[in-house]
Amino acid sequence: MKKLLKQLELEKNRCQSCGMPLQFDPQDGGSEADGSRSRTYCSYCYADGQFREPGLSLEDMQQRVRQLLRKRNAPWYIRAYMAHRVATLARWRSAGSCACSRT
Ligand SMILES: [Zn+2]
Repeated sequence: MKKLLKQLELEKNRCQSCGMPLQFDPQDGGSEADGSRSRTYCSYCYADGQFREPGLSLEDMQQRVRQLLRKRNAPWYIRAYMAHRVATLARWRSAGSCACSRT
């Protein structure tokens, strides 16, 4: 249980759309409609209170994460892990389009 809480604590500081740690966001998070900073989504995913690409599917985002990590020469198991993790983020959890997130 403690471990789970610790995990949730870490998750809070990640963009709940792409999984990027918000501390790496040069803009310190996306922007809400009123101009305040979002603590949920990064500036690449979210601006002015809405997703930049509302039509993006979970598969699209997983593909994007894999490509980004490949550019950074991340090993295959990191790419697989991070792509899997995308499905557990708040934006995608409710979509339920990926069976891997339910196991
Ligand atoms: Zn993001």
